[in-house]
Amino acid sequence: MLNDPRSHGLWERTAPPAPATSPLKGKSTADVVIVGGGYTGLSAALHLAERGTNVVLLEAAEIGFGGAGRNVGLINAGMWVMPDNFSLELGEDYGERALELLGNGPYLVREMIAKHGIACELETNGTLHCAVGQDGMTELEERARQWQKRGAPVSVLNAAETERRIGTSAYAGSLLDMRAGTLQPLAYARGLAHAAAKAGAKLHTGSPVISTGEANGRKIVRTAEGEVSADWIIIATDAYSTGPWAQVRREQVHLPYFNLATAPLSANLRRSILPNSEGCWDTKEVLSSFRMDQAGRLVFGSCGALRGTGISIHKAWARRSLKRLFPQLGEVEFEAEWYGKIGMTDNALPRFHRFGENVIGFSGYNGRGISPGTTFGKVLAHHILGEIAEKDLPLPLTEVQEAAFRSAKEAYYEAGAQIAHFTGERF
Ligand SMILES: Cc1cc2nc3c(=O)[nH]c(=O)nc-3n(C[C@H](O)[C@H](O)[C@H](O)COP(=O)(O)OP(=O)(O)OC[C@H]3O[C@@H](n4cnc5c(N)ncnc54)[C@H](O)[C@@H]3O)c2cc1C
Repeated sequence: MLNDPRSHGLWERTAPPAPATSPLKGKSTADVVIVGGGYTGLSAALHLAERGTNVVLLEAAEIGFGGAGRNVGLINAGMWVMPDNFSLELGEDYGERALELLGNGPYLVREMIAKHGIACELETNGTLHCAVGQDGMTELEERARQWQKRGAPVSVLNAAETERRIGTSAYAGSLLDMRAGTLQPLAYARGLAHAAAKAGAKLHTGSPVISTGEANGRKIVRTAEGEVSADWIIIATDAYSTGPWAQVRREQVHLPYFNLATAPLSANLRRSILPNSEGCWDTKEVLSSFRMDQAGRLVFGSCGALRGTGISIHKAWARRSLKRLFPQLGEVEFEAEWYGKIGMTDNALPRFHRFGENVIGFSGYNGRGISPGTTFGKVLAHHILGEIAEKDLPLPLTEVQEAAFRSAKEAYYEAGAQIAHFTGERF
């Protein structure tokens, strides 16, 4: 994608092609224009087009260019926020509604993949949130208790069972979530794009929206070479927002996150490391994540940007960490490396915004956007179709608020990850 091996790495190499698309040219009309070709925009486009709505989707670069093509591929249920804290943050009604919807989000992802025959390496053997020490275990036990009282299929595994599943004795235990799983994130985005195009949505790539306006009571969005007038605009640009809705990006603090992929492991190693292909991450503040792709590559990631001094520091740390976690791997070389920006909000929960009459969007998934993007895209479609009233949406309407000390926090995250990884696993 755009000839940058550090933007979409392994996913670019192994995803099936996106549908053929071209930049928007000339004037056109639509019922709904969607800005952004990630999970939120594509899910909205697909659900609207399936119902006969005339949809035009405008993507600045390529399908899946933002977080959708760069992420780890963990199909999470819920957010980082503890289940009970949803209501504390959002109030009882919104809190429980959002929690239920996001907890069941992975089931919608599976349904979309099955319904549209999307080839995206789906694995449904759950995820393991891995406890680092007793503090990590205490956190996971509380998280499990809060989900279990809501009937969610989660369980706490002891150290021995965790070791049997992962192939390392590094963890005190783990939280198994059977709703969750893994997929090839760019393949999923491209699959949604194929399904949306097949349903009749018009997708244009290389089409950054640069301005917006109104004429004759209709909304207008303009790109360098074209414009669309519509009744509704969906803003689905999230952390990669540019143009008229760049304020969405400024509401978030960006946390850089990288991934490194090994060559496919031998059959012997596959039997000892994640034989069931659960997706994993740990309870550390500067967390690590790891998962298998379908060819048996181990994809290992953590906070940090692969640029400047970060490249050698993070890669050297990853080699040391893998040696400690999985000594059976021996010396590790990486076949692919890439990174992206995770958009964090101040309370770690997503946002619903209205940018003008009939101009709406969800954003701010805090590194958990596969299920929420798919789910909220569907919710936006049903809202526009008149089937969900604004008061019944999963999140309250809020004003966009510039993140406090954003630049300083972003510099701190990038430098802090380098410091943590320079010293980590060394002594
Ligand atoms: C490194 C990394 C790891 C992550 N790991 C996970 C994970 O394991 N599991 C998980 O669930 N989530 C994960 N996430 C988060 C997830 O990828 C995002 O939350 C998700 O992609 C958001 O979807 P979206 O459709 O809202 O936005 P995006 O996927 O970011 O798409 C937004 C699109 O809008 C386009 N755009 C922006 N401005 C304009 C404009 N002016 N005109 C036209 N188009 C525009 C961008 O080019 C982009 O393609 C991770 C993110 C990153 C970066």
